Amino acid sequence: MIRILLTNDDGIHAPGIHAAREALSAIGEVFMVAPERQRSAAGHAITLHKPLRLNPITFLNGQRGFATNGTPTDCVTLGFDVVMEGRCDLVVSGINAGPNLGWDLTYSGTVAAAIEGAVLGIPSFAISVAAEQTEEIDYRPAARFAALLARRLLADPLPPHTLLNVNVPAVPEHELRGVAITHQGRREYVDRIVPRVDPAGRPYYWQAGSIREDTPDPGCDVHAILEKQISVTPVHLDLTAYSLLDRLRAWDFDLPACRNR
Ligand code: MN
Repeated sequence: MIRILLTNDDGIHAPGIHAAREALSAIGEVFMVAPERQRSAAGHAITLHKPLRLNPITFLNGQRGFATNGTPTDCVTLGFDVVMEGRCDLVVSGINAGPNLGWDLTYSGTVAAAIEGAVLGIPSFAISVAAEQTEEIDYRPAARFAALLARRLLADPLPPHTLLNVNVPAVPEHELRGVAITHQGRREYVDRIVPRVDPAGRPYYWQAGSIREDTPDPGCDVHAILEKQISVTPVHLDLTAYSLLDRLRAWDFDLPACRNR
């Protein structure tokens, strides 16, 4: 029996994870370990300075899962080590409410959970619905794709320490225009800090902002979503800018301590 670890960053009560669970149950046994509350934009954070809890939950439909007080990344390590006792064939993170495209990958708790799966050497993917309005998302097309992709990934495992980042356009399923294998695009924000004033007259700030509109590269994840294609981006953990290695090696740092060696 295939053993699947399912997590997210929107919290264990978010509809997207339940849609994923239902679809993935056709493939194997699904172990759901997710944050007890909304942890979007947690990035790859882990919890070091307080105890972690794994609280069993039985939902009204009889399905079970574990809610944690940790981050999405904590959910993967707790799920793998404790709940699944180190026996896991696939890590799935999502289905996230909202896109995880371009540079947002480094903020994303959804993607970070799949990164943690990759760190553990387990085939992993993150999946998001690229909806800007997240109240009325239909998760079914993304859930069906999650099951399809899970089967492909299990049949043809990718090299260890890689993962897939999937974004599904928020359109009715009949409007989808296939699957695009993409590279990571860019996403920049403008007007990010929104200042307000509290009733005592002190300033406070919201992080918000809107996306800088530019023309995305053909072939990137942002472009695929605009084209109503499901975007699948292979991701690895190495952030090195290889093109800069030789240039930096030519810099003369002239460390005094090394001068006479
Ligand atoms: Mn989220």
